[in-house]
Amino acid sequence: MASPKFQSSKGTYDILPDYHLYFSFIKKVVRHRCREAGFRRISTPIFENVDVFTHSIGDTSDIVEKEMFVFESKSGKKLALRPENTAGVVRAYLEHGMHQEPQPVELYYIEPFFRYNRPQKGRFRQFHQFGFEVIGEADPAIDAQIIYLSHKINQDLGIADRLTLQLNTIGCLDCRKQYKEDLVNYYAGKERSLCEDCQNRLHRNPLRLLDCKEEDCQILASMAPKFETVIDAECKEHYTLVKEYLDELKVPYVENSHLVRGLDYYTRTVFEFWSNKEGAQNATGGGGRYDELVEMFGGQPTPAIGYAAGVERTIDYMKEAGIRPPNKDRIHVFIAQLGPIAKKRSLSLLSELREHGINVVGSAGKDSIKSQMRVADRLKAKYSLILGQIEVQEGTIILRNMDKGSQEVVQMDDIVKTVVERIGDNSLKKKSLWEE
Ligand SMILES: [Zn+2]
Ligand SMILES: [Zn+2]
Repeated sequence: MASPKFQSSKGTYDILPDYHLYFSFIKKVVRHRCREAGFRRISTPIFENVDVFTHSIGDTSDIVEKEMFVFESKSGKKLALRPENTAGVVRAYLEHGMHQEPQPVELYYIEPFFRYNRPQKGRFRQFHQFGFEVIGEADPAIDAQIIYLSHKINQDLGIADRLTLQLNTIGCLDCRKQYKEDLVNYYAGKERSLCEDCQNRLHRNPLRLLDCKEEDCQILASMAPKFETVIDAECKEHYTLVKEYLDELKVPYVENSHLVRGLDYYTRTVFEFWSNKEGAQNATGGGGRYDELVEMFGGQPTPAIGYAAGVERTIDYMKEAGIRPPNKDRIHVFIAQLGPIAKKRSLSLLSELREHGINVVGSAGKDSIKSQMRVADRLKAKYSLILGQIEVQEGTIILRNMDKGSQEVVQMDDIVKTVVERIGDNSLKKKSLWEE
């Protein structure tokens, strides 16, 4: 074939049916775990006023500096494709008066996001995240429950033992103010040993220097003053309780004093799930408290915490672990037919079988029975029904077991009942779409 005229845009990809099996499975697990814990689903618009993001994520983060897709509407409004979800959710929380509902408000989502970054393995310009937010509760038990929920989802997906939970506290704004000063003092005179990014960040966001991946920066970071020396009593107590609750919930973690997360709005608890593999830096997901964000958006002081995980990265880990999600889409029955009357009858048979919860595909063309059976093979159908001119005249139909290669003649009037019995799967019991 000549090369196609168009290709997907750089950093984007098509979710083809086979890849969608993973998507559907992840969605199912997330939805199940979140609903079990009382979360409700939310979707905010894909684009927002750019201020929603610049105001929250912080001007010094990579996301705002380099990675946002910003564009102008025809009326000259500056808009941005959302690079992450927390800002939009907090905006919605306030806009719709959710602060007046019983607190905390627990929300979850599975959505696409956009970042103009350098595409590489597991990193795309349009990517997907699932995650959750709990807004309106400061108790460390909530931190532990959010982490537990993320861990549980990793377990359900079969990737928990490939990941290590990294845990840290970055304190409240007060402790952090002190710590930032200490860091700036520590780095004074050492600027020339820092990478360019770190030199730029030093006075704007010195915490970020701690998690730089450059070797020289890491050496300096390892000797930098420790946060333990400035943390206040309340923040320390909060962190201690989070750890105790995680122990109680049997969630394993590693304390990592250099974990700061890239976004300005985090406070106190921060956490990420890292690969166990040596040298691999790809976190599947992470989160933390953002106790100041609601107020920054004009609301009352409202504590909150959230978590987000990359769907594509999660799928990479699942594939690495050799996990293939169950495919419920198996074709149970293929109907082959020959001649105009048989074709008509096969249409009503299709719909009757589907009403009984059977996945059935019918041949539409005028091909020979033999070539129709090749299609049945390719679809890996369990059974085929063959309706030719003779069968139509005799009021019968051929039922062929595709796995065994055996076949029998069945009365047309009995065929639906027979097929339902043969498929013999309880999951077939036709459920109303309105049932829970
Ligand atoms: Zn504090
Ligand atoms: Zn650096």
